[in-house]
Amino acid sequence: MAEKSQADLLREQLCRRQKHACEVLTPEEIKEADEFCEGYKQYLDLCKTERLCANWTIARAEKLGFAEFQPGKQYEAGAKIYLNQRGKAVVLAVLGKRSLEDGLRMAAAHIDSPRLDLKQNPLYEDKGLALFKTHYYGGIRKYQWVTMPLALHGVVAKKDGTLVDVCIGEEDGDPRFCITDLLPHLASEQSERKLKEGIKGEELNIVVGSRPLMLDGKAEGFKLAILKHLYDTYGIVEEDLISAEFQAVPAFKACDIGFDRALIGAYGHDDRVCSYPCTEAIFALENPDYTAVTVLADKEEIGSVGNTGLESNFLCDFLHELALAQGANPRVMLRNSKCLSADVDAGFDPTWPSVMDPLNSAYMAQGLVLTKYTGSRGKSGASDANAEFLGWLRRVLDDANILWQAGLLGKVDEGGGGTLAMFLAKLNLEVVDLGVPLLSMHAPFELAAKTDIAMMFWACDAFFKAE
Ligand code: MN
Ligand code: MN
Repeated sequence: MAEKSQADLLREQLCRRQKHACEVLTPEEIKEADEFCEGYKQYLDLCKTERLCANWTIARAEKLGFAEFQPGKQYEAGAKIYLNQRGKAVVLAVLGKRSLEDGLRMAAAHIDSPRLDLKQNPLYEDKGLALFKTHYYGGIRKYQWVTMPLALHGVVAKKDGTLVDVCIGEEDGDPRFCITDLLPHLASEQSERKLKEGIKGEELNIVVGSRPLMLDGKAEGFKLAILKHLYDTYGIVEEDLISAEFQAVPAFKACDIGFDRALIGAYGHDDRVCSYPCTEAIFALENPDYTAVTVLADKEEIGSVGNTGLESNFLCDFLHELALAQGANPRVMLRNSKCLSADVDAGFDPTWPSVMDPLNSAYMAQGLVLTKYTGSRGKSGASDANAEFLGWLRRVLDDANILWQAGLLGKVDEGGGGTLAMFLAKLNLEVVDLGVPLLSMHAPFELAAKTDIAMMFWACDAFFKAE
């Protein structure tokens, strides 16, 4: 073999070379990643809403020995606890051997996803159809949500305090729901609209029925037929829908994509692709040195608002109460804490290269994307992670053989977005975004690479255990 030139030697020494997961993982490790993703696909199918995700997490946590957090209680090292935040957000913690004042290792992901919520008065009939009015939740491209099967998830709170669960469209044999679009033959006017107005908010109406209620041989209305069905099935009347939360989500299940099955296509990767690994990592943790915390937040997609989003005090209150009961100063604990804001970022899409800076983009199956800052127009609305913390994290990831890449959300001035990081930073801990790159983010069907998903699990595990 020819000797390496000085330039080659210098390149090896000085240049960063981004690798593909297949270059750094053994065939056994790739198989392990694929197997991890089988569990993830089930989670995707079972947990399409934040409530379902919270329920699944708590049920599993209880089986694994997590107990509901008791404020004021003193916990031993190794204790496993959870906080149920109004059924829509969950905090899991495993108490460490070290003092809480040495800081936490916290991973935070969100469990809400873009979708269509029903309006308070959703049901109406028009020209022989019964329909539901919707209000979209989160940043969706409305034209993507028509002409595909939808499932409906919801809870209805009745005046007597009972809660009725509704889930239609997930089981084989269930009916589905659907939003219609114009036929191309008659769409010439609609086709002149700008893409973002191709389907407008008030055109996202879901078809829910088409047979009238027949009484004594007489057609008595399409809306009445649906109300009768809802009453017979769930014991609810029209006014009950006002104190309900219904979400329409894509009805299809997660599946492998590509001849090599290396990607998963599914609804809700953002941000289950991080919430699942962060949850599994804390479930697998026994007797850590540092107290580990996994936060599963709601409402990230609409700005982390409300009392189940991270703008609320619930996380801060929980952490303060936990620290005080163990005799630790909560502010000292938080100041010494390290946190991963585990969220997705845009993967480089070769069909749409113009919006990306190829030097600062994440590529599929090339590892986790480390995003120093998000925001837009001059980092506005960002949490800009401290270089010192990134240096520490690079060491942790490299020591654990975790493949990672630096990636920002698109070109400067092309757009932007935010994550949980800015709300976590308010707690005065170190925080940076680390997550899985996606293609078609926020679409009803997003793509993620299996090796990246497993990498998130391995990274979270290494982070919880890191010195
Ligand atoms: Mn997200
Ligand atoms: Mn999102």
